[in-house]
Amino acid sequence: MFLLKLLLFVLVLALLIAFSYFNTETVNVKFLDYSLSLPLFSVILGSVILGGVVPTLVYTLKNAYLGNRIYKIEEALKALWTGFNLKAVSAFRKLSAKDEVYYPLLLMAKGEEQKLQNRSYTLGIAETFTAEGLLRKDIKKATELLEQALGKNWNNLRAKKRLRDLYALQGEIEKALSLQREVIREVEKAFRKEEERVLSALESYHLLRSETFDREPKYKDSAEYYCFRVVSLLSEGEGRKTKKVIKEAVEKGFGNQVFDMLMQAKRLEPEVVEALEESKELISKELLCRLYIRLGMFDRAQELKPHVSKTLSFMVELASSHTSKELFEHLKELYRPWRCSSCGKEHGRYKFICDNCAEWFNIYIGETPQEGEYDYRLR
Ligand SMILES: [Zn+2]
Repeated sequence: MFLLKLLLFVLVLALLIAFSYFNTETVNVKFLDYSLSLPLFSVILGSVILGGVVPTLVYTLKNAYLGNRIYKIEEALKALWTGFNLKAVSAFRKLSAKDEVYYPLLLMAKGEEQKLQNRSYTLGIAETFTAEGLLRKDIKKATELLEQALGKNWNNLRAKKRLRDLYALQGEIEKALSLQREVIREVEKAFRKEEERVLSALESYHLLRSETFDREPKYKDSAEYYCFRVVSLLSEGEGRKTKKVIKEAVEKGFGNQVFDMLMQAKRLEPEVVEALEESKELISKELLCRLYIRLGMFDRAQELKPHVSKTLSFMVELASSHTSKELFEHLKELYRPWRCSSCGKEHGRYKFICDNCAEWFNIYIGETPQEGEYDYRLR
């Protein structure tokens, strides 16, 4: 490397000397009343050097300014993340924190996040930030804010994903679906697979709900897709083909979810029950017992009593005795065996998104899977 540099230096020097040798005639340089006779080569070389020195100087100064700014940003963030809020506030102020990208952080340090939405920024950061804080408190307001954020900046992917969650939670599946199609196009490659699962769930759920069986969802990797396939086969009178589909779903770890959805949809046809019998080792005992009650197979339900929760065990008793239908219906309402492994909320049935924390595919029955084992948590 050094040799190469030396060679280059010698070459440039030789060129300069040669250039000077051929351009020794003098020229008259004038400025206002002054005039000066200089050799041509010195004028040209002088201009070239000046042309190099000025940009280098500007560049160095700019670099120093940016370095200083980065240092200040880092100091401000460090203060904020380690709990020195007043220090962070003054640091963000010095950074001319009226800038839209810092402003949420400044307000966060001040504990005044709610003030964000009144600002007239263009990136939609403020609205998204506020909406996330409002998720559990006021879903309507949060939806409104996210719609505003996207109105300002359609490229705000974060707002798009959050709004999709809120639409899905409020049952506006078509709206969630059209946003998710955009998310798929824009999302970074590493997160694509997870988003495809969400699209698969939304699309299948939508087709299922609108009873559209002449179309196939584009992506297959979700419990909703398998539920859609089973119901569509049953509707087309192709029940005997469902066994294979259910087997595949169970193998992929969607067994519990699919059977729960089929129970909710009242599609426990004989072929489905047959498939259940074949794969019951892989189905949660709690769910299996609940399915037996629904199917009126009380003997089987009784056998499972030692393995299920107290509530369900009591429900088995009530359902088998036929004496207290009202009490059974009441208890059924209170029965919540599905649990969100993210926030802990208990649910009466499987849902693709938790209405408490808006996490996708995180609601399980029985044992919660180990890390990595069909844990389709999204951030
Ligand atoms: Zn949750």
